[in-house]
Amino acid sequence: MKLSQSIHFLSNTESLKKNIDKTILGIRGRQLNEFSELGLPVVPGIILDASITQALHQNDPMPVLLPLLKKMGTVVKKDFDSAENPLLLKLVISSNLVIANYPTLHNFGLAKNTITGFEEKVGKDFASHEVFFLLRGLFSIQLSIAELQADEIKIGVYKDLLNKISGELKKEKCTETGSAVMDAYQQYLPEGFFNTAEDQLKITIQLISTMLSLDPDNENDVALLIQPLVYGNYDKESFSGKFFSRNIVTGEKKLQGMFFQEKFDEADADGKDINEIKPAYLKQLESIAWQLEDHSKDVREIRFTIEAGKLWLIEQKSVEAKSTIALVHFLLDLHKRGIVDAEYVVKNVKPGQLNEILHPVINTASVKNFQCSKGGIAGAPGAAVGRVYFSADSLIEAQRIARLQSADTRCILCVPASYAGDVKAIEVSTGVLSNEGGYSAHASVVSRQYGKISLVRPDMKIMANKAVIDGVTIKEGDYITLQVPYYGESTVYFGAAELIEPDPKTSGLLDFIALTRSFIQNFHVRANADSPRDAALAISFGAEGIGLCRTEHMFFNEKRINIFREMILAETTEDRIEVLKRLQKVQMEDFYGIFKAMEGREVTIRLLDAPLHEFLPHNEAELEGFIEHLKKAGKKTLSKKALLDEVAVRAEVNPMLGHRGCRIAISYPEIYAMQIRAIFEAAYKLQKEKIETHVEIMVPIIMNFRELKQIAYGKKIEGHAYLGIRALEKEVREKLKAEPIDFKIGTMIELPVAALSAAEIARYAEFFSFGTNDLTQTTLGLSRDDFNNFMPDYTLYDLIDGNPFAVLDPGVRELISIAIERGRLTRPDIKLGLCGEQGARPENIPFCMEAGLHYVSCSSYSVPIALLAIAQAELEKAENEGRKLTPKKVS
Ligand code: PEP
Ligand code: MG
Repeated sequence: MKLSQSIHFLSNTESLKKNIDKTILGIRGRQLNEFSELGLPVVPGIILDASITQALHQNDPMPVLLPLLKKMGTVVKKDFDSAENPLLLKLVISSNLVIANYPTLHNFGLAKNTITGFEEKVGKDFASHEVFFLLRGLFSIQLSIAELQADEIKIGVYKDLLNKISGELKKEKCTETGSAVMDAYQQYLPEGFFNTAEDQLKITIQLISTMLSLDPDNENDVALLIQPLVYGNYDKESFSGKFFSRNIVTGEKKLQGMFFQEKFDEADADGKDINEIKPAYLKQLESIAWQLEDHSKDVREIRFTIEAGKLWLIEQKSVEAKSTIALVHFLLDLHKRGIVDAEYVVKNVKPGQLNEILHPVINTASVKNFQCSKGGIAGAPGAAVGRVYFSADSLIEAQRIARLQSADTRCILCVPASYAGDVKAIEVSTGVLSNEGGYSAHASVVSRQYGKISLVRPDMKIMANKAVIDGVTIKEGDYITLQVPYYGESTVYFGAAELIEPDPKTSGLLDFIALTRSFIQNFHVRANADSPRDAALAISFGAEGIGLCRTEHMFFNEKRINIFREMILAETTEDRIEVLKRLQKVQMEDFYGIFKAMEGREVTIRLLDAPLHEFLPHNEAELEGFIEHLKKAGKKTLSKKALLDEVAVRAEVNPMLGHRGCRIAISYPEIYAMQIRAIFEAAYKLQKEKIETHVEIMVPIIMNFRELKQIAYGKKIEGHAYLGIRALEKEVREKLKAEPIDFKIGTMIELPVAALSAAEIARYAEFFSFGTNDLTQTTLGLSRDDFNNFMPDYTLYDLIDGNPFAVLDPGVRELISIAIERGRLTRPDIKLGLCGEQGARPENIPFCMEAGLHYVSCSSYSVPIALLAIAQAELEKAENEGRKLTPKKVS
């Protein structure tokens, strides 16, 4: 093979012929060719391809190289081996591996005859520094050769030399001239190494070739790329800089970064905003940045050098740290301009990432001058600002005082690990910083559950009332900011950052959801919502209905809870009915608001499901508040002691398996009766206003078909009459002189026995909704409240595949499949949904779709995540079946 056929020249006007085998160019060679094909201002390059790199110590390439170096010099307006304006080179040893396993060598061409000319351009100090750089590269090659030859003596010598050079490179100033440095090290180098640039290059190429021929790991795919070095410190018209092709926090299409005048690199702190560089350069930089974005279909980080007025693209790579908002804006922009199709947009955002677009992000400008420390394990992604407290009680107390003083109430809990007693503080905090465990530690799990941010820093030391991270001490009450990206490294900033609140209108989320929905075929997402505000939010996020309205949540409000308490403590049924009438009024208003907000979409109202004693006063303040309420209402008051006795009478040892769900309605039919009347009063009121409703009434904790049959159809037995939903609906309809509306009665499947007897239950249920929180609890015998305390141990010993309250357990999946199969035997068109927390998890979506469910229902904020997971599952299915999904029109 002739050498000239294996040595290639490239520049921004000259790329390789199409028929050249690109696999022998190494990654860096291929990249250079790619950018030269795009006409980008890359510095030119000479590639010695992999077919010859191992034989260059026997075969002198200089006769072929010299004319090409001359040509290279013309492009960059320098001369190889020239005393006045020397062309210096970078040698990149490039294989096909992404991670480089060979060093890159800099400044070759710096020799006795060229150093003075270089010093004049960049100053003596910098020039000497660059000689050390050159030496570091060369000694690394020599060390590699010594290692490959197992020459212990030489290994020791080169290691010492490299240590010494590292020390020199760390020094602020070089005291010796470049020429003196060359003299001092010549004894360790091949003879005549610094004589001329030409000799130096020849010797270096031979050494590289020797190294490659000795290396047993060399896959014969290593090329050598030679490129000119350009310097941003040549003169006043020279600059260097680094920037992102757009704002990586907001996604705004405006360059973000810094430039430095007469500086070699961007290490100095005195940079200026890249957008303030001379307009002619800015125009070029923008054009390069956006051309690269369109080409790679990704946001880029770009390094450039302007040497004596000529701009060069030095390096470009993708940006891992971009925010989801930036990614979504970017993808939508590409889509709008026809660069990518909708499928590309939908496939390139991971569902979990959307968490970030729904939470605040840090304004990076606000933390520019903050001390910070990177690292740790992400517990729950997002960004949080707050004052630090080291115990749940001190946090809650500090927050109480802040509230009284109208001060900032944002607090971060900082503990070695959290336990059940800390949950009350996590709930009101903005985030948790802990140092034990990991993703499934209590702090992480509970934070995710409450939508808080959590970071685990195992290196943090917590003492009584202070913590030390990376040598920085934080005391109680100090502000910190946690930045925990979904992907990438987390950061603790020692100060209060400015947060940018998410706005679905400007974040691009709504347009992104529309694209996502266009790929969803026949599977739906509903929301778990129990107020008109939540309902409206759910619709804006693409929910198609409400799959779970937890009616007990409607009584938690300060005013209502005391009426509810009156109801529970009523001495007679008549008294209870009296109080229920008051509750019915407010409950009717709630339903009216929700149905109206849902504009005819399906709304599943789950009848009351909570042990009654949970509503009773538990602490001093609640007891006093309730007594006050009774006094104001002119009701018979109870003493604190009597009240506490009433609470004690109703307490259950195991409330989760006690008097809850439909069991309450069997004992106190008037409670569900009140709710049913409120539902239909609201629905018929809307009928009069010509607003459609599609109500689905859902009964919780059904154990067998008899419970459901009685609640739906009523029962008469030995002098007892139980009024069912259907009779109550008729009563309301006749009273309001309304026309019958379409409504359904169904049940939650939350107990294994209900899943197994689905065939019988389906006789009375028009729909099933799998309550996988309880179904997981009852199938695995794991308390959903206490499990987090010991889950880390189970994770440690690998006894469990993740958290079953997040990712559906195989046993629970099997019960769901059995229930679907049996339910359909009785009622083939039975409607099927899932409304436990697992519904929002992308990991569960493929199962839910394949098992035959029609929808999942999750919190409003999780709706976009579920939609994206469904769209991606549809796209993957189509791809596996060799089909192309065409996006459909979405209203
Ligand atoms: C469930 O059990 O999955 C469910 C949705 O009901 P809750 O969480 O209200 O018990
Ligand atoms: Mg439940």
